[in-house]
Amino acid sequence: MSEQKTLVMKFGGTSVGSANALQYAVQIIRDAKRDWERVVVVTSAMSGVTNLLLDSAASASHGKVDSLSETEATLREKHFSAADALIKDETLREQTKTEIDTLIQSLVDLCKAIAILGEASPRAMDAVASLGERMSVRLLAAVVNDAGIKAQGIETTKFIVTNANHQNAHPDFKTTTEKTRGTLNPLMDAGIVPITTGFIGATPEGAITTLGRGGSDYSAAIIGAVLPADDVWIWTDVDGVMTTDPRIVKEAQTLPEISYNEIAELAYYGAKVLHPKTIRPVLDAGIGLRICNTFNPSHPGTRLIASVKSNGKVNGKVIKAVTAIRKQRLVTIEGRGMLGVPGVAARAFGAVASTGTSVPLITQASSEQSICFAVPSELTPSVLSALEKSFAREIEDEDIDRVWATEDVSIVTVVGAGMRHTHGVAGRVFSQLGKNDVNVLAIAQGSSEVSISLVVDAVDTENAVKALHELIVQ
Ligand code: ASP
Ligand code: MG
Repeated sequence: MSEQKTLVMKFGGTSVGSANALQYAVQIIRDAKRDWERVVVVTSAMSGVTNLLLDSAASASHGKVDSLSETEATLREKHFSAADALIKDETLREQTKTEIDTLIQSLVDLCKAIAILGEASPRAMDAVASLGERMSVRLLAAVVNDAGIKAQGIETTKFIVTNANHQNAHPDFKTTTEKTRGTLNPLMDAGIVPITTGFIGATPEGAITTLGRGGSDYSAAIIGAVLPADDVWIWTDVDGVMTTDPRIVKEAQTLPEISYNEIAELAYYGAKVLHPKTIRPVLDAGIGLRICNTFNPSHPGTRLIASVKSNGKVNGKVIKAVTAIRKQRLVTIEGRGMLGVPGVAARAFGAVASTGTSVPLITQASSEQSICFAVPSELTPSVLSALEKSFAREIEDEDIDRVWATEDVSIVTVVGAGMRHTHGVAGRVFSQLGKNDVNVLAIAQGSSEVSISLVVDAVDTENAVKALHELIVQ
């Protein structure tokens, strides 16, 4: 293992999404190369590109290919305008554009094939989705080289080896470790910055896979863990993890530090800052992780830490962040006949799972006369009919009185590892909501005691978030 300090930096879609953004990224890479012996860059597709690619494949699967030429033009314009603005060397510029054009051509070929087949297999979807990163990696590598920093674009299909679970592939860490070191170390030994694709890998047979939407963060964590690196920095378009959504509360602040436990609760509850799978590899490898803003690079951002010090309080505050997921409904199954009957919950969640719905919150009281859980609003009708079907006999026998859903609700979650050691946090949360006339429909506490989730009416969402955020800043 090398004694030299190694940094892995991942740039998200907006961080490489335009010529302007790419200029920031280049400066960040230049600065990092000054401070660190070895630097690896991981890039997302340019913003919007993965969605565009997947939409094209989905339309093609319905036989629609008429918008393909428009998509081609959009992709060309997006990549070429950045190449034209930033790559001064004509040979390099033309070569880069030709390579990107070839990838755009393969999108057209893939979509036509999908249209003929009338279906897009997960494997075909991955071949399509991978094109975004395969284009951006070429663009970024060329731009960085043109700026006088020695860099080499390289696809992670060469060294991130995964299973064949397309669209959500899992890496084989043993082979990936060997191959990643074998590929990246010689480049870094020669002073070259490897610039690699986020999001994608390949099976041992060489079929392209993807790690799941938003998976470039995970790619950076995998590469950081297997090298191993000393630090992983995730460059995004906000100053790090915030105490809450600044669109709801303008006093929202960046958290200087957050523990892996805490961010896990936040990621789950939709704080879109970090792909949830990112945490495991870096935590296991004992590597640092930082989230920072490409467009405000001197801001320290947020540091991820293994555990919260002493009593878990930051600046004396127990609660650190508040988030909300909207557009949920609470489904309740109720009936006296459920008391003490084993297997009701198993059957209920089996029925829910059969509709492909995942459940973000569950509560049941000890009376066992009702089970209540949240599901996304748009999936509620299919969940209800699956439940009615599955419990048809109990409903007929009146063991179950009814299965019903509320109107739209939101799940508001307060997060803070200090809650575990501090009495009365739940009390403060509820009295704060009471004072602000927010009615709580259901409650769940994470068993790690790092979070409390409350269900409120959709109309109360902003009030609840604002009121609870006051507990952080006051
Ligand atoms: N480009 C991929 C996506 O949009 C991966 C990523 O950006 O993290 O899901
Ligand atoms: Mg992301």
